[in-house]
Parts: sequence; structure tokens; C-alpha cells
Amino acid sequence: MSVIPYGRQEINQADIDAVIDILKSEFLTQGPAVPAFEKSVVDYCGAQHAVAVNSATSALHIACLALGVGKGDIVWTTPITFVASANCALYCGATIDFVDIDSQTYNMSVKCLEEKLALAEKIDKLPKVVIPVHLCGQPCDMASIYALSQKYGFQIIEDASHAIGGKYKGEPIGNCRYSDITVFSFHPVKIITTAEGGMAMTNDAQLAKRMQLLRSHGITRDENDMTHTPDGPWYYQQIDLGYNYRMTDLQAALGLSQMQRLDEFVTKRHVIAKRYDQLLADLPVYTPWQHEDSYSGLHLYVIRLKLTEIGKTHRQVFEALREFDIGVNLHYIPVYHQPYYQSLGLKTYYCLEAEQYYAEAISLPMYPNLTEMQQDAVIAALKETCSK
Ligand SMILES: *Cc1c(COP(=O)(O)O)cnc(C)c1O
Repeated sequence: MSVIPYGRQEINQADIDAVIDILKSEFLTQGPAVPAFEKSVVDYCGAQHAVAVNSATSALHIACLALGVGKGDIVWTTPITFVASANCALYCGATIDFVDIDSQTYNMSVKCLEEKLALAEKIDKLPKVVIPVHLCGQPCDMASIYALSQKYGFQIIEDASHAIGGKYKGEPIGNCRYSDITVFSFHPVKIITTAEGGMAMTNDAQLAKRMQLLRSHGITRDENDMTHTPDGPWYYQQIDLGYNYRMTDLQAALGLSQMQRLDEFVTKRHVIAKRYDQLLADLPVYTPWQHEDSYSGLHLYVIRLKLTEIGKTHRQVFEALREFDIGVNLHYIPVYHQPYYQSLGLKTYYCLEAEQYYAEAISLPMYPNLTEMQQDAVIAALKETCSK
């Protein structure tokens, strides 16, 4: 039997045909597929604007830049995330700090955020931007984070890389009701894919315009944005320092095709999660807790080991599962553990709940086409591993 990965894409004939159509068309990039994909995500999420880019990492970068993050600014995120949620602040020359997680959702703890803000205010070190991450697809407590942003005057970027297709208080994640910008990732392990790709959603026309400029070198062809009248019909003007973060039409066509099955993907993930919940009920593990206000995108299914009951170390259980060809993973190593972050002078063990999580968490395989047989193999391996 081959390894059961922790996540993988689901590609059908319609996806393949959509990409082939682009290959035969006039534009491989900068054609009509990108705006069409953007429109489909705008329509789905109910936000005003979408800016498609070549990764969520790029989207986070231009989101920070559009919000004016620069040298001397402070950005906060959660330590239990992929490094990209923090790196975006460093790209802009800002400093980064981490807010500990909630023991039930593993998302940024609102209580810790509130305490940290009160302290930061006293020493005049308030963050300019806070980046909550919807870990595993479960939305953060955005209403409370938004209320704190009003009180303390910071802006919000939701890192919803795990969360397209999910809902918060009955509304689609990505509508930006409680944030300035929301970012999605379309990496193959995520909910829908464009191979590589990301998108930034916003309800602010100015922010959208700035991100559009930044994804393509800072170049405009709009006369209204130029500093003087064009030299001629060939003319374009670089008015800011941007990047080439563009998504191709091949990717956008794949994304548009995948959007047709987004709800189906998330529904399948929920069926798998429910079955895991049942099959794991008698094992010495904690299954994921779900807030009643939210419908998770369920990118990940993370269990926590009751290590004293199991009588093995976290690492032993992890290695044993890999021996059984179960492609378990660990999402995530607290970002400040990374040598690069240590070299910036961040302390080692300062988020205690995140440390506890890191000592016990394991991501089980979770993707739409995971079969019941594969799921049974995961459970059997876990049972075998947990019995001495
Ligand atoms: C995957 C991921 C990213 C980065 O996404 P890319 O599209 O690979 O750049 C950022 N944040 C989180 C939480 C992620 O899981």
C-alpha cells in the first residue's frame, strides 16, 4: 500500500479541459480567465473586490503593503501557523510578535490578544496590523477581534488560507465583514487549488486598487493615476515599487473550475471529519472542537494525544504512524521556534498554550477523496500505536 498523504488535490476531467482550453487560447496569462476567477470568488464570498496572485504568501505581502505596513511598524499573528503569516510583516521591514492560542480552537486567543493590547498600549507598542489565522478552516472569533481593532486602532488581515468554503456566523469567510483584507491559498493541499495561487479579498476599493498595482510591478496604464499626460499610446507608468505576483490564466481557469465543486469538497471533508470523530471516540486522543458559530472549511483534522494514557512520546506515536504509511503531519511548529526567528531575538517558549499544542498535535489525513478504507487504515494504525 502506498502512503496515505495528509492532504491532496481533487482534479476531474472538467478541470483538465478548462486548463487545456486556455492552452489553446490566445492568452496564457493576463487574459480573461483571471478576472473570471476573481468574480466567481467575489460572488461566492460576498466581498466587493478580489485580487488574484501567484500564492497566498504574495497576497499576504501586498496586503501588508496596501495597509501601509513598513519600517517601525508592529504586526501580530499566531505562533501556530505557517511561516508565511509572519514573514509578510518582515518583508515590509516591520517587526513581528505572537499572540498565544486558545486551548479549544487553537486559533489566536482573544483573551491573550486583549491582555497583550492593554500592555502594549502602556508602552506605546501597539500593532498596526493583526493577522488572525483560521487554523484548520475554523474561523477565529472575528467579531471580538474586530471590536478590539476599533478600541486599539489596528487593521486586520484574515489569513484564511485554510478556510475558503467555511462560514462564520452563517456568512461566508472572505466577505471581510470583520477585516480589511482576507487572504486565501490555492496550494494543492488546500480546499481548492490552482497549483500555486492565492487571492486577497476586500471591500475597500482603494486597497483593491493598490494591491492590483503591487501585483504587477507598480505599473499603471490608467491615465488618471499617472503623474503627467502619457508620452504616447505605448505609454505606461510605474508609480510604485511592485512585484510580478500575477496569477496565470492556466491557474485561474483551474481555480474557476474548482470553484464549481467548492461546496462539495467542504461537505465531503465534513463527512470524513464526522466519521473520524466517531471512530476516534474510544482512543486516547482529543478530537477537534468546533465552535457552534462556525462552519469550518476543514482543511486539516488535528488530534491531540493523551500522552500519559498512551505511554509513548509524541514523536514515537508520530514515527509509528509514518511506519504504517500514514502520512501524518504536524501543523504547526510555533513560528518563533524557527532558527531565523530565533536569530531575530524572539524568545523561545513564550506562548505556553502553543507549546502544549505543539507537544501533542498530529494532523491526520484529510482530503475530499480519502476513502473509508484509507480512513479505516488510519484508525487501525492509531489503535495499534496507542495500545502498548
Ligand atoms: C499555505 C498557507 C500559507 C501560504 O500559502 P501559499 O499559497 O503556499 O503561499 C499561508 N498561511 C497559511 C496559514 C497557510 O496554511
